Amino acid sequence: MADARADDDADAAVEDLVAAFPALAGLVRPAVLLRPEPGTPGVLDSSVGGPLLWPAAEPWPVCREAHAVEVRVKVPDEDRAALERVDRAVRGRRRARPERAEETTAEETAVLRRVLAGAEALDRISWETVRTVWDTSGPGVAMVPLLQLRHPRASAAAGRPRTGRPDGADLLQVLWCPNDHGELPDQSGYHGPALEIRHRTAARVARDRVLTSPPRPDRAEDAYLPTPCLLSPQPVADLADPDGLPDPDDLPAALAEEARRWAGRRGAGAVPLNVPSRRPDWKLGGWPGLDLSGPDSLDCVSCGAPTRLLLTVPSSVDGPDISVGRFGTLRVHTCPEDGRHPARLHLQ
Ligand SMILES: [Zn+2]
Ligand SMILES: [Zn+2]
Repeated sequence: MADARADDDADAAVEDLVAAFPALAGLVRPAVLLRPEPGTPGVLDSSVGGPLLWPAAEPWPVCREAHAVEVRVKVPDEDRAALERVDRAVRGRRRARPERAEETTAEETAVLRRVLAGAEALDRISWETVRTVWDTSGPGVAMVPLLQLRHPRASAAAGRPRTGRPDGADLLQVLWCPNDHGELPDQSGYHGPALEIRHRTAARVARDRVLTSPPRPDRAEDAYLPTPCLLSPQPVADLADPDGLPDPDDLPAALAEEARRWAGRRGAGAVPLNVPSRRPDWKLGGWPGLDLSGPDSLDCVSCGAPTRLLLTVPSSVDGPDISVGRFGTLRVHTCPEDGRHPARLHLQ
């Protein structure tokens, strides 16, 4: 594996940097930039949207949370006739007085409201009312692979909780349900894809018993189906964004600049100091780049410990070509105390 030492190097880079700049202790974290590029990953590769090294005997994750379903109901003929009379009356008035804005009378508005009966929209082509309901019926939706990452040295970038993770886990697998959701457990205010995170030991998956054709979702939003990508993981020492700290004065610009120059002088082969950029990268570990303390705090819902950033998933039109939120960024945070506690999802 080309990326075998990536996460290990990031840990070492952080130690070197803090040894040279003790004031940076707590302000620099190990991270791995994932750098996805479209390709044809196999089950042994680190990938975004690629096949997973998944034991054939293990159930594939299925999402049984509430999914949005569009319910269409035919408008009865007499109601359609009433609506067509309203439309004709509106058009007639507009022709007579084109300078006036389109208006409906109170009576006409009442007709429309009665026919809609709480639906969000009226399809005037098919003459159906359209409403969204949250549906939990059916067998559930098969999840799709978002990320597989081999990190053979169990790095700090990959989270390393005090307890609750299999010993020797060197393979991170993240799947998601490629749909929007109603309320998800433990994720107040978040309505994006539901996530499933697995940590396993690659050597324990028998190569002749790997799942070759996982189930596919029977419903999915295109924006949540990543283009398969291979990764070129790059370990970095991830420097905090002062604007993302509760107190920006904790990281003076002069100190950041000095550290940057020091890291730059270390030359080729050295682990780079990752300076916060405007456009978030696909990244394991490191800093979220925004202040998630105070009212936005993402404490563990099970034990109350402040969570740590595990994964940054940005929207992009190149590479994996996905879009989360309003072309925003999904950040996955996990509990540093116990790997079994639920992740917290943050969409910005
Ligand atoms: Zn779902
Ligand atoms: Zn916890």
